[in-house]
Parts: sequence; C-alpha cells; structure tokens
Amino acid sequence: MYKKIEREDINYFINVVGNVNVSSDPEKLDIYSHDEVSGDKYKYLPELVVFSKNKEQISQIMKYCSENKIPITPRSAGTGLSGGAVPVMGGIVLSTEKMNKIVEFDEETLTITVEPGVIPDDIQKVVSEKGLLYAGDPCSSDASFIGGNVAENAGGNKVIKYGATGNSVMALEAVLPDGSIEWFGGKLVKDVTGYDLVSLIVGSEGTLCIVTKIILKLIPLSKYIVDLLVPFKTIEKAIEFVPKMIIESRIIPTSIEFMDNSSLVLTEKFLNSTLPYSQAGAHLIIELEGNDKETLADEYEKIGKYCIQNGALEVFVADNKTTRNRIWKARKSIAEAISSLYKDFCMEDVVVPINKIPELMSEVKIISQKNDLDCINFGHAGDGNIHVTFLNHSRSRKEWENIIDITLRELYEKTFSLGGTLSGEHGIGLKRRPYLPIVMSKEKIKIMKGIKKVFDPEGILNPGKIF
Ligand SMILES: Cc1cc2nc3c(=O)[nH]c(=O)nc-3n(C[C@H](O)[C@H](O)[C@H](O)COP(=O)(O)OP(=O)(O)OC[C@H]3O[C@@H](n4cnc5c(N)ncnc54)[C@H](O)[C@@H]3O)c2cc1C
Repeated sequence: MYKKIEREDINYFINVVGNVNVSSDPEKLDIYSHDEVSGDKYKYLPELVVFSKNKEQISQIMKYCSENKIPITPRSAGTGLSGGAVPVMGGIVLSTEKMNKIVEFDEETLTITVEPGVIPDDIQKVVSEKGLLYAGDPCSSDASFIGGNVAENAGGNKVIKYGATGNSVMALEAVLPDGSIEWFGGKLVKDVTGYDLVSLIVGSEGTLCIVTKIILKLIPLSKYIVDLLVPFKTIEKAIEFVPKMIIESRIIPTSIEFMDNSSLVLTEKFLNSTLPYSQAGAHLIIELEGNDKETLADEYEKIGKYCIQNGALEVFVADNKTTRNRIWKARKSIAEAISSLYKDFCMEDVVVPINKIPELMSEVKIISQKNDLDCINFGHAGDGNIHVTFLNHSRSRKEWENIIDITLRELYEKTFSLGGTLSGEHGIGLKRRPYLPIVMSKEKIKIMKGIKKVFDPEGILNPGKIF
C-alpha cells in the first residue's frame, strides 16, 4: 500500500535538503531504526533518513510524501519509551535534530519560542539566568528534545505541581501532511476560539503533524529549593505515605519521587556511588520550593516530622546544589542504569489516581510473583505514575516476549480496574498499541481514527502507531 523509495524520490529529497542531509548509509539507518524501548521486536529500518533544517523543507517533503504515499516518521532525539519514532512501515525517518535554535526569549510575555530540536535543559539554562523557569522536567531533560517532549506530552518530576509538558505549551507551528504550515494558539494566557487544537497536537505522537516551533510559557523561578531524601523500611510504608502526605498535609510539593530498593541498588551500581540508607526498602524524594527561607523551612520541618510519624527511618535535608544534584542524579539515572545493565527489560508507566497507588503496588507484586518475573519499581509517585519494570535474567527471547505479553495484559487490566490507564507519560506508540482496547472503548478509538483521517487522509505520517 505504501510506495517503496526509489532513486527519483531520493533525488527529490536531495534537491530539497541537500546531499549531506539525506542518508541511506546502513550504519545510520540502524541508528534511526529504534528508540529506547528494549527488544528487536521494536526495531524497523527506515529506507532513508532525512534531516530537515526548516519548515519550508518539511512542507515540501510532506507534500511529496502525501502525493506519492511514502511514510514519514518524525524523530527528535530517539529517547522515547514507546517505539514512537520507529518507522514501522519503512519510508523516511525525518529528523528535526538540526532545527535546534532558540528563536526568541520574550521576557515581556514570559515566553520562549524554540525549534523542536532544542534540549529542555538548554531552555532551562537560558531562562534561569533571568530568574524564570520552564516547568517541563522529564528525567531525560539532558538528552531528549522539546519536539519529542511536546509530541509525547512528556511528564517528569514536576508534574504534581506544574502539570505535564502541555501545560507549558502556549502555541505551536506545525506542518500538516498536505504540506500546509499552520500556527495553533498564540502568546495568549487564555483562548477559547473553537476547539483546543494545541492540546490535541500535544501528545499526538507525531501522527497528526510535524511540530516546527513551540512557544512555551515561563514562570518565576523560586529562590529556594529543598529536597528531602526519605528512606522507609518497606515499599508499602513509603507508598502508603504518598497519598496520605498530599491529602493530609495540604502542601503540594514540586516533586514526590519514589525508588524501591532494587532500583536504588541498580543506579548506585551504575553510578558507582551511594545514597544514605541504601538498604532501606524504598526512598522518597520530596522537593519543596519557595521565595521565603523561613516559610520553606517551616514546611519542610512539618513534612519531615510527618514522614517520621509515618514510619520514615530518617529525613535527610538537601538544601545545597551539590547534595541536591547527587540525589537527583541517582533518581534520573535509573532508566539508563537498567538499559545499560539489562539486555531485555520492559519499562512501563501505568498511572492511577493517587489514592490507589498502594493497591496498584500490591497488584504489581502479585502479578510479578505469579509470572515469576523480577520487577523493580520507581517513578513519579506523587502523580500516581509508577515505572513498573520487568527484567529478563535468563529466559529465551521467545519465552520472554510471551510472558511479557501475558503480564502486560494483567497489569493493564488491574490498572484500569483501579481507575487508571496504561500510560501516564511515555505514550502508546508501537509498543502499547495492541493493548489500547483494554483501556479505551471502540467508540473512542473510532473518534481518534476520524481525527487522524482529517489531518492525514493518506495515512503517511507515522503510520502504525497508537491504533
Ligand atoms: C533515561 C530516560 C528517562 C526518561 N524520563 C522520562 C520522564 O521522566 N518523563 C517522560 O515523560 N518521559 C521520559 N522518558 C521518555 C522520553 O525521553 C520522552 O518520551 C521524550 O519526550 C521523547 O523525546 P525525544 O526527543 O527523544 O523524542 P523521540 O523519541 O524522537 O520521539 C517521540 C515521539 O515524538 C514524535 N516526534 C518527534 N519529534 C516530533 C516533531 N517535531 N513533531 C511531531 N512529532 C514528533 C515521534 O514521531 C515519536 O512518536 C525517558 C527516557 C529515557 C531514555
């Protein structure tokens, strides 16, 4: 149904972006054949990799591909955890990595306009010098690109207070599959002119359009930040405390992150450094911020006492950059530690209402024991979003894939029965596509397919994803 790329197509792309920006070198094709999902099952070679430098080039490529039925898979940094940037149907992978400029930093409207290939940490550096914050903070903030963050509506460590990426997106410039270029939204604090198309595009996983510019909202950067590192004897104690703390303390921290003992041990091994109470069953990282030192101290003392009353073994206060960075380095490195220490693993990101986290964790234990799987757990506990991760020690690839399929079905069914869903931030992509009907009715999937058809009638943009 899709056209295979031929010499004349290659010549066309070379004509648009230049010889150096088109590659069919097997090594390059291999690099662009996968993202960070583990397993050959999620690897597909593109026929061609094309690097775009501006929206006009993308427009010409999209128009040509629509007319000739050539699949295009948009790609940012390839750190995705759902197989979203993988060219399942072949065709071209269109990389936006060369579109990496900060276009405008507008302090008067508290916005920054960026191209999709900018790394979130680089946005942070620029705005923090002026006392501002871009609130997006995925653990991949030093490696992923903002275009990928927008396409996945990436979550991360500050969602509990500031929301996911979409909460900071005010406007988008995008190229549609027919080659037209449109702006959605603007530098407006509010806008109810018709449907909210900005929110529709955010999280659409590169299936509706290719984002070429993003206007992000900035907020004042807090003067003081404190992290509490809180070890608990057991996972259960730590997890039970999370909803209790939020509900009863009436304080919304910036982050409440969770690492069970196995994930801490892995990340310590990977980084070759340790955190206090390494042997504890689980650790929480609770981040608080404010502009008044004394008020902040009152808050963290209150929460610290509350932690101890609820079974914490100790409360370590990190109020300087060095210790704070040490704690966050351990937390942010867990995913990398897993992928460097295990060939086969399955990292999930199920999400439940915060009061259901303890039940979710007991179900995870039952499911992994029943299927004889090693499982480690960490994640954004404050949002009810846990990275349940299964590790393959000794099963053959086939056995592993079979047992993971059974296990995921059980996990998603349980999560759904608790009022949750199968992805809080990593998206459906290729990996979770077979499981979408577990959590979504046929009618809703039909609506989504209808939306896709309006944007992309020829079905050339990131085919084979979501549904
Ligand atoms: C170590 C590690 C830690 C992580 N931590 C987090 C975390 O805390 N929170 C979280 O949410 N995720 C996390 N992730 C997952 C991943 O980093 C995010 O999903 C991120 O948003 C992907 O960005 P990317 O630039 O790598 O996108 P890619 O993987 O390249 O692409 C992701 C999707 O976006 C589409 N896309 C890319 N660019 C565009 C564009 N310009 N226009 C339209 N569509 C586009 C692609 O087609 C694909 O479907 C982590 C991953 C790793 C490896």
